[in-house]
Amino acid sequence: MAEVRRGLSIGVYASIMVVLVLSALISYAAFTYSEFQRVRSDMLASSYAAARDEIGLVMDHLLQDAEAAAGRFADWEEVGQQLQMPRYYAYWRNHRMMSSNLLNRHVVAAEIYDRDGHALAKLDESELPSQVATPPPPSYVHYADPEPTLLVFRAVPARDTDPQRQPAGYVGLRIRFLDQLRETHAYRYADPQTIGFAHGTGATMTWNELQSAVNFSLRENPMAEAVSDLLSGAILNLSIILGIFSLTLFPALVFLIVRPLRAISTHIDRLKDSPGGLVLENLAGVLPIAETEKIRESLNAYQDQLSDVHSSLEEKSQELWLMAHHDALTGARNRRAFDEFMQNLPELLGDRDVCFALFDVNHFKAINDTYGHSIGDQVLKAIASRISSVLRKGEELFRIGGDEFAVVLLDCDEASALRIAERCHEKIVGYDFSKLGIREPLRISAGLANARIDDLDDLQALQWKADVAMYRAKRPGHANVVMFTEALARDSEGLFSSWVNTAVYDAVIYGKGLEMHYQPIVDLNDGSICHYEALVRISQDDELIQPSNIFAVVEARRLEVELDRAVIRQVLADLAGGKVRPGTGVSINLSGPTVIHDQVCSWLGEFQPFLKDYRVMIEVTETALITQIGLANENLSRLRRHGFEIALDDFGSGYSSVRYLASMPVDVVKFDITLVQGLQDKIQGNMVTHLAQMILESGHQLVAEGIEDNATLEAARAAGFMRGQGYLMGRPAAKAAWAKIPFDNVAPFPSDRRA
Ligand code: C2E
Ligand code: MG
Ligand code: MG
Repeated sequence: MAEVRRGLSIGVYASIMVVLVLSALISYAAFTYSEFQRVRSDMLASSYAAARDEIGLVMDHLLQDAEAAAGRFADWEEVGQQLQMPRYYAYWRNHRMMSSNLLNRHVVAAEIYDRDGHALAKLDESELPSQVATPPPPSYVHYADPEPTLLVFRAVPARDTDPQRQPAGYVGLRIRFLDQLRETHAYRYADPQTIGFAHGTGATMTWNELQSAVNFSLRENPMAEAVSDLLSGAILNLSIILGIFSLTLFPALVFLIVRPLRAISTHIDRLKDSPGGLVLENLAGVLPIAETEKIRESLNAYQDQLSDVHSSLEEKSQELWLMAHHDALTGARNRRAFDEFMQNLPELLGDRDVCFALFDVNHFKAINDTYGHSIGDQVLKAIASRISSVLRKGEELFRIGGDEFAVVLLDCDEASALRIAERCHEKIVGYDFSKLGIREPLRISAGLANARIDDLDDLQALQWKADVAMYRAKRPGHANVVMFTEALARDSEGLFSSWVNTAVYDAVIYGKGLEMHYQPIVDLNDGSICHYEALVRISQDDELIQPSNIFAVVEARRLEVELDRAVIRQVLADLAGGKVRPGTGVSINLSGPTVIHDQVCSWLGEFQPFLKDYRVMIEVTETALITQIGLANENLSRLRRHGFEIALDDFGSGYSSVRYLASMPVDVVKFDITLVQGLQDKIQGNMVTHLAQMILESGHQLVAEGIEDNATLEAARAAGFMRGQGYLMGRPAAKAAWAKIPFDNVAPFPSDRRA
């Protein structure tokens, strides 16, 4: 059986999918969010850079303006005059200079310095230094509370009268620039109100240094904020929507697919229990799904077909059962049906008593031989229909052998069983068989036996008892219908005693107690042993059952083939066990039904390995039972080709006739004891001698059977027999050890009779 793969349920797969989709979504959202943040901070950095540039530019302009203002102030001619004549400088400074429109409102302080850098006025250091270097330093920033100021110095141009053209002096301005920086320009990036400088109070620095120390905040950008909010909102919403979608996917899958699939699988499970007629109506799904609906339809269609096939199979099997249990010729039930019926008999009976009737057509073989098989068939049909017409309802007729019929009569006492059987007999006697061309009267014999239901042994012995009664009915001078009695059983003991029956069955079927005794067939010239004839015996307890009793059972039960097979197996075992002296031969008797059996050659084929040490001869006995000569000849010819010798047994006994000798492939002819013992009679001896000569001349070997004394031995020799067999040379014995018979001192072999 194919290995069953147990997968996970769709629910588990769906959960795995949901987890995967959710993880993918979370990763995607995180990635998008971090990209968004990166772009945002890049944008911020570039805005900062742009703002710094923007502020730097404005500061450059401021410096230029401040220096230009200082230049204009230095060029003012009143400044030159004050340098030449500083007597009223203080007055000028207070009234004229500060109100001059050369100094704007951002100028916190202004001062004039002479050529040596001394301030003309006495100055407060917080305004301007009272002494500057000459030439003065470039513009710088002083960081004082609350805001930084720019200090700018410029040379006052030389007087025309000065031949060395040295500056006449210097001017210095302290200018507030922070307000200008914040107000004078419309900034695009920087927020002007946040512009400031990071520096400690009292520090001085160059303008460039101040530019680097600028700090500010960016102008708010509502558009960018809006876009950013929109983007993060969109990412969040998308994640929520996809998350909800994935979570609803699971129950949706379960409702849409899992439930229909489960419904289909449950339906299939139910089909296993009751294969016919179940239809899957709906799939218990929320919505119909095309694929599962298709599966449902296909399943129902398949189910329809299956139930059609099922019912036609049932019909067929019933037909086959009928065929297998009925006899095609007579319409009665056959042997197989009979065996089954008998096996189940104890259960079938319930509490009813039973009577068993066995019918057999008298001299049917003769009718068959005389009028041919097709007339024989007609006779059997007529007889079966006559018997059936007498049977009561529910009683069935079985054909259990060629011309043997059986009926089990239920609820029947001995008297009514006898009446029924006699009625059958009358019907057949009254039937006009002459219309089939049969001239002689036709009769049947019936053996009856009854059993009590509570006695199982009685039931099992039914058939045997009916056999015994039938045996009596067949004997001349007896009634055609006989009921079994214990007295009959005692009369028939030996032939039909049940222990012989059982022993024969056990020996034939299981080989139990079956043993072969060997009798030498001797060369009459020198006493050497040509063959040992294998003769069957059955040992039961201390008794040895002889062929006459064995064959009474074997023939009544048609066990010929089974017996011969058991014998073949036993002889093979004896050869393998060294029971027969190598260098001699072994001769095996086969009955008619075995000779025509299609497997006989393969059974005997097992002798092949022994053929190098032994000659093997097949004795064909009871040739009258050979119904198909063609088939027999075919098998015998094949065996001959494979190195077996063929002997015609009991020639002259009435069984084996000249007809068979002429038509069968035979090497050896064994003259029956009756002919051999008749050799000593003058007339009979003469006839046998002539017959022997004739057969010898046609190329056959001869064996004289039943040589019991020296006179018969001599007569046989004189009649031309070269081989002989008989108690004189040796009785059948369990071991075949002799190689040669000492004729001068003929000592019989030990007897196989145990008594
Ligand atoms: P058969 O094949 O003709 O065997 C010879 C029978 O004659 C044997 O009887 C043997 O014991 C007996 N016999 C031999 N010499 C003498 C003698 O000098 N005087 C007398 N009065 N009888 C002698 P058995 O063993 O009882 O066998 C009887 C028949 O049973 C055989 O006749 C054979 O037809 C049949 N038979 C025996 N064994 C087998 C077997 O294994 N298979 C088959 N199919 N038939 C067997
Ligand atoms: Mg024989
Ligand atoms: Mg014989």
